[in-house]
Amino acid sequence: MRDSDELDKLVKVIASALPDDQKFIALHEPHFSGNEWEYVKECLDTGWVSSVGKFVDRFEHDLAEYTGVNHAIAVVNGTAALHICLKLAGVEQNDEVLIPSLTFIATANAVSYCGAIPHFVDSEMRTLGIDPLKLSDYLKDIAEIKQGDCYNKITGRRIRAVVPMHTFGHPVDLDPLMELCASYHIELIEDAAESLGSYYKGKHTGNFGKVSALSFNGNKVITTGGGGAILTNNESLAKLAKHVTTTAKVPHKWAFNHDQIGFNYRLPNINAALGCAQLEQLDHFLIKKRALADSYRKVIAEIDCASFMVEPEFAKSNYWLNTIVLNSPDEMKREYLLEKLNNQGIMSRPVWTLMHKLPIFTKFPRMELTVVENLEMQLINIPSSVMLGMTRVNAEGLE
Ligand SMILES: *Cc1c(COP(=O)(O)O)cnc(C)c1O
Repeated sequence: MRDSDELDKLVKVIASALPDDQKFIALHEPHFSGNEWEYVKECLDTGWVSSVGKFVDRFEHDLAEYTGVNHAIAVVNGTAALHICLKLAGVEQNDEVLIPSLTFIATANAVSYCGAIPHFVDSEMRTLGIDPLKLSDYLKDIAEIKQGDCYNKITGRRIRAVVPMHTFGHPVDLDPLMELCASYHIELIEDAAESLGSYYKGKHTGNFGKVSALSFNGNKVITTGGGGAILTNNESLAKLAKHVTTTAKVPHKWAFNHDQIGFNYRLPNINAALGCAQLEQLDHFLIKKRALADSYRKVIAEIDCASFMVEPEFAKSNYWLNTIVLNSPDEMKREYLLEKLNNQGIMSRPVWTLMHKLPIFTKFPRMELTVVENLEMQLINIPSSVMLGMTRVNAEGLE
């Protein structure tokens, strides 16, 4: 290949930002160095391992405090959180929900669980998330307001909501998106699964949607093993979220009455215990992650054929997953790099297959998706574990 020298150099500089005494470096490993053992042991010692217990309440309280969102409701995983967010925002069967094509499958699945139709939207390079300008132009073409609701003129279906996703922790440009939602009567739901610890214009992500979803899967910034949370500043929605995720049981000392079809989506206390311990360390994790991102940024600056994805100017990102952006969409180059990095024990991954290309979703509506079609061939995620930032920071004597 013509540019293989430049690509080899890129592999070399990435390796230079990583520890050289490890045979294999994972993409994102969890890190347990705080009160995890103590809190989990307390669950086992007291028998409070399951659906009730003090850690669930504490985790919800701590999450609300950390994010500055008034209410947090802990649930089994991020997908379940998104499912309930969509229901609470009023998404019904046959509605359309605007989502980025460049996202993890959970966003599209949650829409499908509601019997609704994912409608795929393009992203912008700056954030890797929904492009508000392009969406605005698109809605001018296809949307109309009838009796206070937004309709797709082509399909006749109601467009109920938009779900921006903060890709790899980089916040979407939310202000223009919120304006768009207001003028088209569309609900905003943030898929903040990747963005715990990320801020848009000084405010934590998850504060901007009517409801928002977090994930604490094993590969996220902090983990509860599996877990998620619904965030909202609306008190009645928060109550409803708790109610429907805990089987919609009407409180009573002994009677089993359920006033609607609810979900068993609550987070077990033992997982919440892990979450409390992890959240105590989040600020520390974010410093390490930023240090690793800084090392990557510095060494990749020497490379002509690619750049390192940095936070948008209006944001502070958690740098959940570090990302290389190739200057041009070139599948051969991407595969060459993935091969070289992985063979060298530096675990690297392409971005998700675009949602509109998955056979299960090809028949659904979409706008022209040029940017994400290119990005699919440009993006590579490289190792991002908290631990890797520790070695760098220590080595440079910053601590
Ligand atoms: C991780 C993630 C989710 C939720 O995933 P769970 O594994 O169900 O917790 C949702 N959306 C995005 C974009 C994610 O990365």
